[in-house]
Amino acid sequence: MNKFAGVDYFEVDSLLTEDEIMVRGSVREFVDQKVIPVIEKHYHEEKFPLHLIPKLGELGLLGITLPQEYGCAGMNNVAYGLVMQELERGDSGIRSFVSVQSSLVMYPIFTFGSDEQKKFWLPKLAAGEKIGCFGLTEPDFGSNPAGMLTRAEKVAEGYKLNGAKMWITNGTIADVAVVWAKLDGEVRGFLVEKGTNGFSAPEMKGKHSLKASVTSELIFEDCVIPARNILPGSKGLKSPLMCLNQARFGIAWGVVGSMMACYDAALNYSKSRIQFGKPIAGFQMTQEKLVYMITEITKAQLLNLQLGRLKDSNKLKHTQVSLAKRNNCEKALEIARSAREILGANGILNEYPVMRHSQNLESVKTYEGTHEMHTLIVGEDITGLAAFN
Ligand SMILES: Cc1cc2nc3c(=O)[nH]c(=O)nc-3n(C[C@H](O)[C@H](O)[C@H](O)COP(=O)(O)OP(=O)(O)OC[C@H]3O[C@@H](n4cnc5c(N)ncnc54)[C@H](O)[C@@H]3O)c2cc1C
Repeated sequence: MNKFAGVDYFEVDSLLTEDEIMVRGSVREFVDQKVIPVIEKHYHEEKFPLHLIPKLGELGLLGITLPQEYGCAGMNNVAYGLVMQELERGDSGIRSFVSVQSSLVMYPIFTFGSDEQKKFWLPKLAAGEKIGCFGLTEPDFGSNPAGMLTRAEKVAEGYKLNGAKMWITNGTIADVAVVWAKLDGEVRGFLVEKGTNGFSAPEMKGKHSLKASVTSELIFEDCVIPARNILPGSKGLKSPLMCLNQARFGIAWGVVGSMMACYDAALNYSKSRIQFGKPIAGFQMTQEKLVYMITEITKAQLLNLQLGRLKDSNKLKHTQVSLAKRNNCEKALEIARSAREILGANGILNEYPVMRHSQNLESVKTYEGTHEMHTLIVGEDITGLAAFN
């Protein structure tokens, strides 16, 4: 087993606490020992490594920032970010699983849920005994979720849901879906449990990206859920957007893991691959690529750390999260493509992690708000002019 040493050109570690370094170390080891040895096989077979879920729970990585009274670790947001970074060095699919469970399922239950919902679901989700998913995107409404067609209607037994969601991570394997639907014209959150009549979650196949992650449709046909399953504190589109903000924060950190994996592979390869009588690392054009990578990694690390410190001091603006998500995803994809070039033909093989990361990053750049949406969010913030339509 190879032990990953990390990438730290600017002594960013000196800005981290002992606890933060310790958590990162344990996730780094978990990824080296448990994720990297199995990930290519799962990716090839289009399967999520389900056997890792209990271990993710045992390590305290699910809902890591939530309070200990619900079985969570109560860590800070920088620790959460570092966890995402290390997991994504393994694979974006593993990080996506933890992002969805933590930021898109446990966070809304914690933030908008009743005491009963919190006590019932959070400890089970933290332990990995139960799996959740988050249904916002619809076949006809992606970047513009305000137009969603999924409806909830008050009925004698509770609420009746009709509509469909698409591109839902963990959908088929989830025990509970956090579903966003319009009730009397207002977006509200609902908990839909696996096995409820009128609810199905078929898996979507044929992806060339995020293949070690389950992606599904959610279909509601006169699906009646009990009245207790509405998230009482959810109010309007702002509620799912608050969840997305948590998840985007995790993505901004996560993709630095992909950057590091690709940089590490390219650097090592370039030092041992001989062409024209010397290692390709000795050519100026290869060095230009490697220097670009380490520069962008260093910039993203510093950006993320400040993002995390702002979040931990309750000063973070959602527009700052957009800037980081937008920048880091774009740079990660550029680094992955550049690393693939350095590896030449070997770059397309599954012997190296580069092509897998590159394919994954195509999804990561698109989900949780596309590059263009984050451009418009930051653009509106700095100009005061909305350019969405
Ligand atoms: C693997 C994967 C997993 C996902 N998991 C989840 C999940 O768990 N839950 C969930 O709810 N969703 C999930 N999504 C959905 C994801 O969030 C959406 O794909 C994303 O929001 C974009 O929506 P869309 O694909 O419908 O693209 P569209 O909204 O149709 O956009 C298509 C293109 O048009 C551009 N565009 C749209 N409007 C404008 C504009 N005003 N100005 C300029 N350009 C514009 C977009 O930026 C994009 O480039 C997932 C997606 C993928 C690929």
